[in-house]
Amino acid sequence: MGVPLIQQLRVGGYLLKQRIKGTKRFPLVLMLEPLYRCNLACPGCGKIDYPDHILNQRLSVEECLQAADECGAPVVSIPGGEPLLHKEIDQVVEGLIKRKKFVYLCTNALLLAKNLDRFKPSKYLTFSVHLDGPKEHHDKAVAQEGGFEIAVAAIREAKDRGFRVNVNCTLFNQLTADEAADFFDFCTHDLGVEGITVSPGYAYERAEDQAHFLNRHNTKQLFRDIFKRGEGKKWKFSQSSLFLDFLAGNQDYRCTPWSNPTKCVFGWQKPCYLIGEGYVGSFKELMETTDWDSYGTGNYAKCADCMVHCGYEGTAVEDTVAHPIKALKVWLRGPRTDGPMAPEIDLSKARAGDNFHEKHVTDFMKDVPITKRDRRWFEARGLEVPAAANEGDGKAPTVAAE
Ligand code: SF4
Ligand code: SF4
Repeated sequence: MGVPLIQQLRVGGYLLKQRIKGTKRFPLVLMLEPLYRCNLACPGCGKIDYPDHILNQRLSVEECLQAADECGAPVVSIPGGEPLLHKEIDQVVEGLIKRKKFVYLCTNALLLAKNLDRFKPSKYLTFSVHLDGPKEHHDKAVAQEGGFEIAVAAIREAKDRGFRVNVNCTLFNQLTADEAADFFDFCTHDLGVEGITVSPGYAYERAEDQAHFLNRHNTKQLFRDIFKRGEGKKWKFSQSSLFLDFLAGNQDYRCTPWSNPTKCVFGWQKPCYLIGEGYVGSFKELMETTDWDSYGTGNYAKCADCMVHCGYEGTAVEDTVAHPIKALKVWLRGPRTDGPMAPEIDLSKARAGDNFHEKHVTDFMKDVPITKRDRRWFEARGLEVPAAANEGDGKAPTVAAE
C-alpha cells in the first residue's frame, strides 16, 4: 500500500468519527487549486483553458489555509495548473503540515528539482509527479519531448534527498496493458516511489484532444488486462483495493464528489474537481446547496464515462469501512480480472450538459481590463469580448516565479 501507516490510522480514525456522528456527506481529500497557470499545455488537460487574466489569479496563503480549516479533510491534494509556479506554495505547504494535513503536492516536475530547497522532507508531504506512462506516451501526453527524462531525474533527486514521491498516472486509450504493466514495474522497482495513483483520464470538454479518452467499458477491460499482468509484482498503488476493484469492473459504485471538494480561484466548485458548474463562497454552502442528485454517471451527460479517483475513491473508502471483510479479501487476492462485470449504469435518462464555462469566464472578465492575449482567447472561440470599453494597456501582467 502506497500510503504511510500514520496516514492510514489518522484517516481511519477520521472515518470512524464521521460514522459515529452519522454524517451523511463528509470530505476526505480537499482538492486545493491555488492557480490555473501551467508551464505545460497537455492536450488532455481541461484545467488551463482560460484567458490570461484568470491564469494570473492566485489563492493567497491565507485563503488556502482557511479552505483547509473550513473543510477539515485530513488529506489535501494541491493540483493546478502547476503549483510550483505559485511563489508562496512553500508557505501553503508549511501551514498545512502545521495543521497535520497529509499534503500531496501535484507537479509536472519541470521545476521540481530547482524548487526542492523550498521544502523539508516530512511524512506529511508527498510530491505527486505527473507521469503518464513510459517516455513515448508521457512526452506525447505533455506535448513536450524530453518531459519524461526531466520528471524522472527530478523524482530521483527528490528521493535521494529524502522526500516521499508518488507517481500520478492518467491512462488514455493509446497505452496497452503490457506497456502499463512495464511502466508500473519501472515506478515500483526502479524509481522506488512510495506509491502510484492511477486513473483513467476524465473526458474534459475543454481539452484540446478529445480522441484519446477511455469510455467506461474500455477502462474496465484495460484495468483487468493490466492487473492480470501484475499478479505478484507488488505494485504500490496509493488507492484503496476496492477502488482498484471498481476500475476492473467489479463494483457497482456511484460517485461521491463531496468526498473531494474543490477550492479554486473562483471559490468552492460545484459539484466536483472535474466539472465546474457553479461556485460558492464557503464549504458549508457547497455542501448544503449543491444538488448532488443531479450529477453522477447516469444523471448528467458530462459524467457518462467518469471513473476517476476524485469521484469514486471516497465511495470505495466508505464501502471499505462498511464491508471490511470484502475489502480484506480484495486486498489479499487483488482485483478480480475475469468473470462477469458489475452491471453498467443506464445512461439513457441522463440530462444534457450545460454550457457553463464560457458564460462563467465572460461574467468573470466583464469588469477587468482586457489585454490583447485575453482578447485573443475570446476571439479564438468566436465569443464576444466582454467590456470592450474597458480595454487594458495590451500588456499581460508579469507573474512572479514564472
Ligand atoms: S501539467 Fe497538469 S495542469 Fe499542466 S497542462 Fe498538463 S495536465 Fe494540465
Ligand atoms: S461522475 Fe461524479 S466525480 Fe465524475 S464528473 Fe460526474 S459528478 Fe464529478
